[in-house]
Amino acid sequence: MSENQLAKLREQVDQINLQILELLNERGKIVQAIGEEKKKHGTNRFDPVRERESLDLLLKNYDGPYTEATIKHLFKQIFKASLELQKIDYEKTLLVSRKAHPENTVVNINGETVGDGVQRFVMGPCAVESYEQVREVALALKEHGLTLMRGGAYKPRTSPYDFQGLGVEGLKILRQVADELELSVITEIVTPQDVELALDYVDVIQVGARNMQNFELLKTVGTVKKPVLLKRGLSATISEFINAAEYIMAGGNDQIILCERGIRTYERATRNTLDISAVPILKKETHLPVAVDVTHSTGRRDLLLPTAKAALAIGADLVMAEVHPDPAVALSDSLQQMDIPQFHDFMNELNAFKERLV
Ligand code: PEP
Ligand code: MN
Repeated sequence: MSENQLAKLREQVDQINLQILELLNERGKIVQAIGEEKKKHGTNRFDPVRERESLDLLLKNYDGPYTEATIKHLFKQIFKASLELQKIDYEKTLLVSRKAHPENTVVNINGETVGDGVQRFVMGPCAVESYEQVREVALALKEHGLTLMRGGAYKPRTSPYDFQGLGVEGLKILRQVADELELSVITEIVTPQDVELALDYVDVIQVGARNMQNFELLKTVGTVKKPVLLKRGLSATISEFINAAEYIMAGGNDQIILCERGIRTYERATRNTLDISAVPILKKETHLPVAVDVTHSTGRRDLLLPTAKAALAIGADLVMAEVHPDPAVALSDSLQQMDIPQFHDFMNELNAFKERLV
């Protein structure tokens, strides 16, 4: 083949490439219009039957030099790119995202705000065990001017033989102590059926790590007028976490606090691995306040203070930790709860640390 002939053929290929490009552009615009129609009718973007019909039509009319597998592969790429194109146009911006709502959401708990730039604490026992136990911890909280108290009435335990919580009795104790001492109560609710009942007793509904993808529970707490503290699932990615929050907000409840509580990794030195970078990521991606639970993430009393400092330094809106009058006899999480003197030291250290941060 002469040099001249080669150049001519290459020129032809270039021209065909340009024609293919033009056809792709034209095709892309039609695909976008189809995307709009699908959106109007709520039709799924991906339609495998339609894709099969398109492929069959192509192969029936094909008698060129490429193998059928190659043709299938090339068109599959075009189909995939088209689906992506529709996704960009069609996928709706999440309600919890900063894109949808650039200002910070401030969660209001009986007048106490979370997410307004003041860093706060929520403390209390792992589980409600008795009126006296909750009251003793509550009094310690009051000494530091804290207003948010936690305590579990329904405990999601790994073993069915472990203490499961006092249930409604626990809710009543929390409410009684909170009313007597003017505190707000955060407690975990584990089933959608209990949400209505909980409204009479609690100020913030906690959705625990094990229930982060209990979609029925998320939908139910989305319909109530109570703030929700949503914990990150045991092995949940940040995207899954954000989508779980979206379930709540899609129901109409925008009073959501996201709580990083450690994720499961190969590391066994701590109970879970505290993903501290989740805090700025969540604050960047969403407009919701972010909490860090240092007790369940570390599972170690000696790490509560350094991780709480890290949480404050990185910009968490709320720090959660567990306190018990006598952790050695606690019915759950006895290894990592602080006793009352340790809690006082913890708060004093953190308040001093906060001063240094500003
Ligand atoms: C809790 O806060 O009481 C609790 C059980 O935490 P988690 O859901 O994060 O394990
Ligand atoms: Mn606990």
